[in-house]
Amino acid sequence: MNSPVLQVTDLNTTFATPEGDVKAVNNVSFNINRGETLGIVGESGSGKSQIFMSIMGLLARNGRAMGSVKVTGEEILGVPLAKLNKVRGARMSMIFQDPMTSLNPYLTVRRQMTEVLMTHKGLSEAAATNVAIEMLDRVQIPEAKRRIGMYPHEFSGGMRQRVMIAMALLCGPELLIADEPTTALDVTVQAQILDLLMQLKRDTGMAIALITHDLGVIAGLADRVMVMYGGRVIEEAPVRDIFKRPQHPYTEGLLRSMPRLDEHGVTRLQTIGGQPPNMQKLPSGCAFRDRCRYAFDRCATERPELVSFDTFRAKACHLTQLGEVA
Ligand code: SF4
Repeated sequence: MNSPVLQVTDLNTTFATPEGDVKAVNNVSFNINRGETLGIVGESGSGKSQIFMSIMGLLARNGRAMGSVKVTGEEILGVPLAKLNKVRGARMSMIFQDPMTSLNPYLTVRRQMTEVLMTHKGLSEAAATNVAIEMLDRVQIPEAKRRIGMYPHEFSGGMRQRVMIAMALLCGPELLIADEPTTALDVTVQAQILDLLMQLKRDTGMAIALITHDLGVIAGLADRVMVMYGGRVIEEAPVRDIFKRPQHPYTEGLLRSMPRLDEHGVTRLQTIGGQPPNMQKLPSGCAFRDRCRYAFDRCATERPELVSFDTFRAKACHLTQLGEVA
């Protein structure tokens, strides 16, 4: 049986602010299986990144995460830092939109990569250098032997992203968390990085959590999709179903806002009206109701729970089907 690499149960993340607590993540539960890519989609502020910052133990000082997070069956939420550090890097690692978040500008790539291998794997410096060069080759950095001695700023944006991916994969993690990994790149480089991630997924069988606001990125890489809004999961489905038959009005809106060509070859875009909710003052009932074209009376008073309606699908909406009132 395909056992989960990541099991998240009832995760709640709160930030203490002078204006009061802000609940960024509310009762979120999900699994990611071996070899599976889960796409996590939502606008900025939807809570998607905070889920994984909670998992990695990287929340800002005023943040607190409650619930349960298991990596290959082992609880990691709230464990001492030394124990968490053994899991981070070795069994799970994270890549970011800006590679400089995880690369040190003052150290050569060689120094940064070999340090990881010497610390986590106990390799000698010479052995670590060989493994690091192999990994740079694997992420298609040309002339890896020479370039390993360079500093991060000496690489182009796309190449820096590859270096960060190589760093994240050094210890063969079972889970890679990719937070908007291509957002800052131009379209051609974006496609190359997505191709690389797809190839690494095929070759290594690692699980990937792909966080993005871009459904186009999800289409190419994810097996399953989890859509977030207002700190909650509002729809979950296999990737094909999300694109063919979205069942939440917000997901439908996201799909309508993707560029597509009509019969005259013209790109049509329909944006979702209104603004994401203020997380400090979430409206009563459904958090999406001010922007929802299907909203009706019940939506103002009763918050829809996430309910399964098919073997692999769930949604949080009072409609039985889009356009049909329950
Ligand atoms: Fe729209 Fe109501 Fe469904 Fe919320 S519960 S998405 S407001 S129809």
